[in-house]
Amino acid sequence: MSKHYVIVGSGVAAVHAAKAIRDRDAESEITIYGEENHLPYNRIKLTKGLFSDLHSEKVLIKKEKWYRDNRITLHTSSRVTSIHPERQQIETADGKVTAYHKLLLCMGARNRALTVDGAGLRNVHTIRELGDADRLKDSLTSGQRVVVIGGGVQGLETAWALHEGGYPVTIVEAAPRLMARQLDEASSEKLRLILEQSGVQVKLHAGVTAITGEEAVSGVVLDDATSISCGHVVYSIGIVPNTDLVQETGIRTRAGVLVNSHLETSAPHIYAAGDIAELDGLVEGLWGGAIEQGKVAGGNMAAAEPAAYRRTVPVTLFNAFGISLFSIGNTDERQCDRTVAAEVDGVYTRIYVKDNRLTGAISWEGAAASLLYKSAVEQGVSLEGLDVENGSLEAIMAGVAARLEEIL
Ligand SMILES: Cc1cc2nc3c(=O)[nH]c(=O)nc-3n(C[C@H](O)[C@H](O)[C@H](O)COP(=O)(O)OP(=O)(O)OC[C@H]3O[C@@H](n4cnc5c(N)ncnc54)[C@H](O)[C@@H]3O)c2cc1C
Repeated sequence: MSKHYVIVGSGVAAVHAAKAIRDRDAESEITIYGEENHLPYNRIKLTKGLFSDLHSEKVLIKKEKWYRDNRITLHTSSRVTSIHPERQQIETADGKVTAYHKLLLCMGARNRALTVDGAGLRNVHTIRELGDADRLKDSLTSGQRVVVIGGGVQGLETAWALHEGGYPVTIVEAAPRLMARQLDEASSEKLRLILEQSGVQVKLHAGVTAITGEEAVSGVVLDDATSISCGHVVYSIGIVPNTDLVQETGIRTRAGVLVNSHLETSAPHIYAAGDIAELDGLVEGLWGGAIEQGKVAGGNMAAAEPAAYRRTVPVTLFNAFGISLFSIGNTDERQCDRTVAAEVDGVYTRIYVKDNRLTGAISWEGAAASLLYKSAVEQGVSLEGLDVENGSLEAIMAGVAARLEEIL
């Protein structure tokens, strides 16, 4: 069989995998199948830049010429409908069967569906694809309130875009605080106050039990039996990896497609990367992780010596409501030995320490300051000899910066 690398899905993991393959194999055929009607684009812009021109070339991961120059065949609007590991073939919706010698699964994830009564009404939205963002923008009516369900990063970015666009917004979050996965209590509370001061309503500890309306949305009902009248609902309540395609193939799945550290699935010659992949019990669901996994999987498909994927340090940068904050690494208090926090001129920072190493940080210093903390977590800089118990945060971080300089 001649060498043919086939990639299912056309997100960021797929593009970086194709590049990694081409870097190692100049000759063989590479084909990407994507069901969306667009060249692969920067999905995270859908909320960060909701009202910008999302169809602009600037949103593309690579321009069309890059695929041509690298002899990567990209089929858009082309859904892969079945995989046959035993004969090393895939089939697309048009009935065409294609053989592969190595196959990469990059089907990503979809947004977890809202299952309450009324979730099927017109003007209930969720944003995963470019088409979703287009539909939301097309349907908005000036002056009508939008209820955003979910107070995580995507929900808050959506709320910010809508607020900036002039729409009244209410955020409904089931947890007791906003961005609970990334922020500590103090930061979440500070964030809530800023949102409310800017005119966005925030309902915490609140579940939506129903969406009301005749044909289109007219309101939502909360679990305390109060209701909010609104013209639109946008929900962002987690993701579900797109594993449907592999269900009949014998490839092992749990939440995602199970992979080992080389990003190989349980089937020979088949790899998985990005939001579809589950490694050591975790589906990362992050842009940076999808890029790295794509690179490693593509590299391993084409190289003689496989490399192991090393989980990247998770970084969340939040730039909205006039705030620029970041959360890096593990910021779960229960999993660290101690934390050190300080607020200088209204700028709050907290670091997390385990086994005398920095494992995480939250700071309102602005995105540019995140690099020091990220490098320190990545490099596992030792805090031995620094006065972590009584020293100021500023002195500890100065010591960390000096040690990093020696390492890098
Ligand atoms: C609105 C939004 C904002 C986000 N913001 C952030 C952020 O700030 N930071 C962060 O780290 N992460 C963020 N994420 C998550 C990040 O975008 C994902 O982790 C990343 O896109 C995953 O890339 P992927 O290539 O694995 O999958 P995806 O980007 O999901 O791409 C998979 C592609 O495969 C296609 N596909 C699926 N099944 C088939 C099939 N059978 N045949 C053909 N094609 C198929 C899908 O249509 C899709 O185009 C955000 C996500 C969204 C939706």
